[in-house]
Amino acid sequence: VSPAERAVVSSADGPERRVRIPAVGIDVGGTKFAAGLVDESGRLASYTEYPLPSKRYEDIVALVGETVGEFRREVAAPAAVGVAVAGWLSPDRDVVLQAANLGWRDQPLRRDLEARTGLAAVVGNDADCAAWAEWVQAGKPGGAFALLTLGTDVGGGLVINGELITGAHGLAAELGHLTVRMDGAPCVCGSRGCLAVYASGTAMLARAKELLAADPSSAPTLGRLSGGNPAGLTGAHLQEAVALRDPAALAVVGEAGRAIAAASQQISRVIDHAELMLGGGASNVGQPLVEAVSAAIAVSQPVGPVRPIPRVRLARTGNRAGVLGAADLASRAARCPQPT
Ligand SMILES: [Zn+2]
Repeated sequence: VSPAERAVVSSADGPERRVRIPAVGIDVGGTKFAAGLVDESGRLASYTEYPLPSKRYEDIVALVGETVGEFRREVAAPAAVGVAVAGWLSPDRDVVLQAANLGWRDQPLRRDLEARTGLAAVVGNDADCAAWAEWVQAGKPGGAFALLTLGTDVGGGLVINGELITGAHGLAAELGHLTVRMDGAPCVCGSRGCLAVYASGTAMLARAKELLAADPSSAPTLGRLSGGNPAGLTGAHLQEAVALRDPAALAVVGEAGRAIAAASQQISRVIDHAELMLGGGASNVGQPLVEAVSAAIAVSQPVGPVRPIPRVRLARTGNRAGVLGAADLASRAARCPQPT
């Protein structure tokens, strides 16, 4: 029997003894390619990550095929492959309608992956996969969970009662583009005052540069780390300055925290989430951001009907979230094949 068949046989023994189907998870970022094999026990048995060698669609499909082949030879036999992509997917998640960072349009990725690898394939939006990974990591609780990925942009993912919410057009959970300030600054999406304008890693760094340039005395650590040159400031500098309690760096985190809290209020009104998880590179500023968001949420809760406040926490799966989430979604789809 193949590992997949073995897993199915085992799961037939009873729900307590359910064994996962080993699956490869792959995260195709704008600049990075990451892949891992998640085994029967749910453990990440192997992981690799390197700069994306090409953005060409055909090259990536071929690379996924080679990667799956390597895992087959070296570790164990995966029965499914899941790929996380930053982009807009069709509601059935078969087609990448648009992936701006990669320059892809209307690519039938799921079909091509199955043809290339011979395995059951699943495609997911990267923030959706990350949200899924965090929910799995949390022990698959019931209720509603929201994840924000604070990177170049702000991505979002929602898991409600064990289901990933993708929407009628594959555009659900675009939480980074909730309006947090009417008539606010313009956003890349064409709207104004979006969460991403205030809380993306890009936005936080830009704000830190602005504060340092305007008043160096308010930003002693940022000034020292950047050699007094605001343009030379990096995300790592901001992270370090926050840890060292630089006033301007903390102000940046406070502003981002208030914007995230405003978005969380709106998310609450719609799904009443139990947890708001913060991931992505900019969440590396850590606990001060969690505290800023929590404090702002607590202050702005309306008086009236009791509304429990969502718990805010940092994501736990780090830069492996996409790989873990894609692998788990693939494993699940292979275990319960969807009707065609
Ligand atoms: Zn926007």
